[in-house]
Amino acid sequence: MVIPGEQPFLARTAETAAAGDVCRILVVDDDASLRRTLPLVLAREGRVFAESGTIAEAITLLEREHYDLILLDYRLPDATGLDLLDWLTSHHRKEAVIIISGEDAIDAAIGALRRGADDYVRKPYHVAQLQRAVDSTLHKTTLERANQTMSQRLQASERLHRFLVESSPDLIFTLDLEGRFSYINPRVHPLLGHERASLMRRPFSTLVMPEDIDRINSVMFARGNAPGETFNIELRLRRNRESVAEGGSESITVSLTGIPMPDRDGRGTTGLYGVARDISERKRAEEIITFQAYHDQLTRLPNRVLFKDRLELALAQAQRRTGALAVMFIDVDRFKLVNDTFGHAEGDALLRGIAARLSTTLRRGDTLARLGGDEFTVLLPDINHPEDVETIARKIVEALTPPFRLEHGDFRATVSIGISLFPRDGDTAEDLTRHADVAMYQVKRSGKNAFRFFDPELNTHYRERIALENDLRIALGRREFELYYQPQVSLRERRVVGMEALLRWNHPTHGQIGPTTFIPVAEEMGLIGEISTWVLEQACSQLAQWRHAGFNDLRMSLNLSPHDFDRKDVVSIVTNCVERYCLPPSRIELEITESMMMQDTAGVAAKVRALRDAGLSVAIDDFGTGYSALAYLQKFPVSTLKIDRSFVRDLDGPSTNPIISAITGIARGFGLQLIAEGVERPEQVETLRALGCDVMQGYLFAHPAPAGKASAWLSQAPDTPMLC
Ligand code: C2E
Ligand code: MG
Ligand code: MG
Repeated sequence: MVIPGEQPFLARTAETAAAGDVCRILVVDDDASLRRTLPLVLAREGRVFAESGTIAEAITLLEREHYDLILLDYRLPDATGLDLLDWLTSHHRKEAVIIISGEDAIDAAIGALRRGADDYVRKPYHVAQLQRAVDSTLHKTTLERANQTMSQRLQASERLHRFLVESSPDLIFTLDLEGRFSYINPRVHPLLGHERASLMRRPFSTLVMPEDIDRINSVMFARGNAPGETFNIELRLRRNRESVAEGGSESITVSLTGIPMPDRDGRGTTGLYGVARDISERKRAEEIITFQAYHDQLTRLPNRVLFKDRLELALAQAQRRTGALAVMFIDVDRFKLVNDTFGHAEGDALLRGIAARLSTTLRRGDTLARLGGDEFTVLLPDINHPEDVETIARKIVEALTPPFRLEHGDFRATVSIGISLFPRDGDTAEDLTRHADVAMYQVKRSGKNAFRFFDPELNTHYRERIALENDLRIALGRREFELYYQPQVSLRERRVVGMEALLRWNHPTHGQIGPTTFIPVAEEMGLIGEISTWVLEQACSQLAQWRHAGFNDLRMSLNLSPHDFDRKDVVSIVTNCVERYCLPPSRIELEITESMMMQDTAGVAAKVRALRDAGLSVAIDDFGTGYSALAYLQKFPVSTLKIDRSFVRDLDGPSTNPIISAITGIARGFGLQLIAEGVERPEQVETLRALGCDVMQGYLFAHPAPAGKASAWLSQAPDTPMLC
């Protein structure tokens, strides 16, 4: 960067320094003796003399170098001294000139002085007179030169400082004692759009946003602002109307440093010097960072942190005015299904859609937040009656009724909503959120797509559930699971043809826990995969042992969870295990539920077919309780139907249960095997036999029991009571 004024300023300083060391004097006279004597008479330390006898010769010397002083004769053979004066003027020379002349006339002296000579000495002169003239002229030129150097320095310094101030990226200004602009740098125009001139003598407050005026007045014009006492403040300066119209914000945020300007004696101030730095970008960046810290990226809704913050604030306010507020915990039903089946992009689109619809149901002042995953919370800070919350909950359920358009087609989203109220259900943010969550969880358990208020009773369930989850996580590692076996008896063959493996959890403190209690929890927690693998391994190993003991015709039934079929490798896991124990695949029967077939999202039909192709049997468990659509029996190549025990329970005679007759008809039609579950009474056996069902399972024959006891049944003679 070239700073204007800087270069010449430095050059001139060097020149002056050189001139100060040596003083060059040129003697121009046609009198050779004079030319010789004058240097002797005028000699001083540092003085150097040159001489010439003609004007032409003098010009040649002058063209070569500069002199401090010329002692010039008036008349010379080739021209007059006046001609040399003219030459000096026309060449902008700075040499001082003393004319030494024999001319008497005063006009000659006046003419010479007018044409630029510094002094005039008439011949004959006294040596002392000439010495005085020379000394005083040289002194005068030295002073002049120093003066000139000083003023050049000042100019350069002024230029430099003006440049620094005017090209500063910051807004620099001064204010008079009344707070009016006395100077403002050109930066004001690009920064705020105002013309500099239009601001001069106008109050500083003209530029300040109205909201900040009081603040700035109190800082800037506080009495006792002693000179030199600096202050710093952040404030917003207004942009002019045209700039705002062209786009951008109404104001910019600046960090202003103000320094009172001391007067001459330093006791008072003459005004204020201010530097304002545009920090709008930094502010924006800070805002973005803050926004990100407090908002969810996907939906741009407040996140958990901000929700908690707002809830705590609302609680404090509600406590002060003894008001009420409500917290809703909203969880999207079956969201995992969308994510797993259609991918995360579709899942995200659905969440955004849900967030948008939820927002439409709320009033100003309510807060909708996304806690993460498919969980949303709502803060209703101003509630008069619990019915108000009910109305909003209904509105939410309604708003979600129209299907969401996803790339893979329409999706009907429903939500489960739990509600807690302040002060009834708690007085801290944590308690209210947790209690709303507990209520939501209850909605999930009882069929989803509804809302429910927190009930303190739920809390105990919730605690138990958390404890159960924690224990379940470590149960496998601690070998707390055990398989029980329940025999499946063929009346015709009068023997045990199969065993169903039924899982038990021997809990260290609660005793034995049945699968209906913990399997749904394991499914929700994503633990079911590991558990199923363990069951498979265990059941195969047991069957191998029984086969080893000679029970080669025995079939092992085991139950699979719908979640197992979400796994891509379910088929290979089963077939590998069966192969490892060298079991004929047809001796293994996998029980699956009807509901699984209704939604063929994870390619269940293909997996069932692959299992069947590998030679395994597949049974539909609890047949008749679900959708019982015959169409899926064509699609899913199963081998067995297990009649649910609820039908068996009601059996009194052959004609008493039309459903069972229908099921036996279906089995016959599709060439499927039938097993009746839950057989408890002898008359049920009779009826089932009459209906054409041969294989049965139930307490009448045996309760599920550990492997040791089950082995005993296998060895029983065909006429033992169990098989009669
Ligand atoms: P399920 O497969 O329908 O199993 C039959 C259930 O009926 C068993 O209950 C059994 O003890 C019970 N039961 C048998 N005979 C009678 C009877 O005569 N009367 C009555 N009232 N009940 C009888 P359990 O063992 O409690 O199992 C319940 C359910 O848990 C099973 O129903 C099955 O769906 C599931 N389950 C059991 N073990 C496993 C497993 O290893 N994995 C998976 N995914 N589910 C399992
Ligand atoms: Mg079963
Ligand atoms: Mg069953």
